[in-house]
Amino acid sequence: MTLGDAPAGTFPAGQRSAVCMTFDLDGHTMWTSKDARNADRPAVLSSGSYDVGQGLDLVLDSLDRHGIRTTFFVPTDVAEANPGAIARIVGQRHEIAMHGDDHNPLRDRLRDGELAHLRTLKEKLEDISGSAVRGYRAPLYDVTEQTRDVLAEIGCTFSSNYMDSVHPYVVESEQGRVAELPVHWMLDDGPHLLFASSPPNHRQFLANSQIAEMWTAELRAIHELGGTTVFTLHPQLVGRPSRRGLLDEVVAAAEALGSVWFPTMGELAQRVLHGEG
Ligand SMILES: [Zn+2]
Repeated sequence: MTLGDAPAGTFPAGQRSAVCMTFDLDGHTMWTSKDARNADRPAVLSSGSYDVGQGLDLVLDSLDRHGIRTTFFVPTDVAEANPGAIARIVGQRHEIAMHGDDHNPLRDRLRDGELAHLRTLKEKLEDISGSAVRGYRAPLYDVTEQTRDVLAEIGCTFSSNYMDSVHPYVVESEQGRVAELPVHWMLDDGPHLLFASSPPNHRQFLANSQIAEMWTAELRAIHELGGTTVFTLHPQLVGRPSRRGLLDEVVAAAEALGSVWFPTMGELAQRVLHGEG
């Protein structure tokens, strides 16, 4: 494979690249994982309420208008506290995937500890969503050397954590095969839109136009390479009323290219692992 070629059979016939408009529904854990004292700050936590409330509804509406189904990565603490949000996501036929429990980085990094951790996440999310859970994005993309082997062992098909390619690729181990569906901080709305009243996220917001310029340039360049553009988005950040226009602008730019596939992560992983069949 050269840099300009997707693995054979990755995309449906006639499609040159893929764009995944994925979301992390961090809810209140975005704030409690930054500072445990935020658990006693209702106004801080209210951004998490927006995430699972109006923010989620606005992005679901945008996705629906564009006919896009995608993947929502959800911490189990958020899913357990907001089953109605999960039902709204699943009701629009989006996919639910793992994103930790309380959004803190994995504390027990030993293999057995990670195996038990990921098994529990998968079982809880499947119980709450009533749908199969096939993949994992770690909070802050902070995985271990063995994460992908463990995912294969528990029957998952994809990881979306590494930043080492613009193409999805297969990871093989004794435990089985999983697809890595790579991300990048540039395509995450957090670095551009997350603000907090104290460091390290106390900083200037970027204008929508700056972000739209950056994101559409990157997706066009990845399209030229026949790659996959994976956005990591948050309803409480890009789901603000005006910022939602960013989604429309980026999706419209991708649609204008004429040969872009918008799969869920599970659908993309299926083709990466098994091709057309
Ligand atoms: Zn997150």
